Amino acid sequence: STRGTITQSTHFRSLLGGLLVPGFDERSCLSRYHSAFYRKTMARTPSAHLIKRLREHEALQRRCGPGTEAYRSAAARLRSDHRNNNGTDGDGDSPGACKYLVLVPYRGLGNNILAVASAFLYALLTDRALLLDRETSLGDVLCEPFLGASWLLPQSFPIKNLQNLTGEVPESYRHLVQSGGDGAAAAAASRRRYVFVDLDHSCTYHDKLFFCDDERRFLRRGAPWLLMRTDGYFVPALFLNPAYEGELHRLFPRKDAVFYLLAHYLFHPTNKVWGLITRFHDAYLKNSDDRLGIQVRVFDGDTPFQHILDQILACTSQENLLPEVVTQEPAPAAAGGARRSKAVLMTGLSSWYYESIRWKYWQSATATGEAVSVYQPSHEEHQLSGYTTHDMKALAEMYLLGMTDRIVTSGWSTFGYVGHGLGGLTPWIMFRPENHTTPSPPCRRAKSMEPCMHGPPFYDCRTKHGADTGKLVPHVQHCEDMSWGLKLV
Ligand code: GDP
Repeated sequence: STRGTITQSTHFRSLLGGLLVPGFDERSCLSRYHSAFYRKTMARTPSAHLIKRLREHEALQRRCGPGTEAYRSAAARLRSDHRNNNGTDGDGDSPGACKYLVLVPYRGLGNNILAVASAFLYALLTDRALLLDRETSLGDVLCEPFLGASWLLPQSFPIKNLQNLTGEVPESYRHLVQSGGDGAAAAAASRRRYVFVDLDHSCTYHDKLFFCDDERRFLRRGAPWLLMRTDGYFVPALFLNPAYEGELHRLFPRKDAVFYLLAHYLFHPTNKVWGLITRFHDAYLKNSDDRLGIQVRVFDGDTPFQHILDQILACTSQENLLPEVVTQEPAPAAAGGARRSKAVLMTGLSSWYYESIRWKYWQSATATGEAVSVYQPSHEEHQLSGYTTHDMKALAEMYLLGMTDRIVTSGWSTFGYVGHGLGGLTPWIMFRPENHTTPSPPCRRAKSMEPCMHGPPFYDCRTKHGADTGKLVPHVQHCEDMSWGLKLV
């Protein structure tokens, strides 16, 4: 029946084309099945292979996750300091044994979100159950993504103070690699309780060799527990590793869809955050003909800067994103004549940029006759990452930026990457100013909707030599806003 078809397609739509599974309690996380209705269409659709691998991975999380027998015994081995001296009876080796990736994200919420998306893809590629350190507020602002299995690391996890681990610890991947050839390193890995990989954007050459590891070498044996610290998006580096090439191609026939699809699979705001998002959307954005997002992130301090306001105005004018204003009062429009309305959603820690732009369009009429309304949900003044209410607003604003039609972001900002990435929007990126001057040009349209990787490897896994990693494959290129960064296009 027609009704049946409508319900079926509504159902399919709410599951984001098969990305999500039915079966979660709807009320406990309203955003999960409702976010689809706040979007016109999906910018990218999941491949059949991605859907299949997600279902397999969910089963793995259920089999290995907290509360299971597998988890209990794996955690017990970590506690008992049990080591395999001969390096042959590693439990990680037996078929079906559980392997884990414990992610230690840090810095701001944008950094955290990019780290989780990257770690999840790595976990999927290497059949590891992903568990998140609880030090961040991720668990307060996001719902659980896996049906029937928690992704939060249990409080009882034997290794404490994960945030303090560095590449200097004896368990580090850095030391593993430095301990000799492949055979020696694999044996060394099997004698350790866990392997810790430091992928801070400032990590070393040896840490970054992790990106060339194919799990058949250092990490296969004796590394049922892999602990990882990272603050950013490392997916582009996975695309440079020959070991994952074929599988990544099957998962993502369109290379620019990775963050968008993973984000829609993983990141469902909790009900409180969803309330912030939907109420703001319904009150200020929904009824406009056109929505522009402007994300202002200033790395030079929290005081207002004229050169940054100039940059925003130069960019939006040059790219025809905001209308010009006229000095003369225009002739009165026919009463009741419909004008186009444009809503501008601004985000930033300061309200000064927003006040200035709002005043511009209040003070003067637009040359196009459009009615421009300017909004900013919050102005927190200072970054206070880790405080739940602060992080709730940050997530709501990233999400709202993704609900606009076009978006201008600040270069170098992971907050901005998440905003445009969630929205499936290719941004206009404002270059990071140097010496307190407005850059020329002020901004540029990006090549894709993907986030930029800030600390990429400079090493070719195939030739085992240093290389310009932005030139190895056509779909991994240098970023617009950071010349050494890498992004998928
Ligand atoms: P990045 O530093 O720009 O790469 O982004 P992060 O999200 O990692 O860290 C910046 C943090 O500062 C955010 O998570 C927020 O806590 C705060 N912040 C920065 N810009 C904004 C903003 O526009 N709105 C809100 N609510 N918070 C912001």
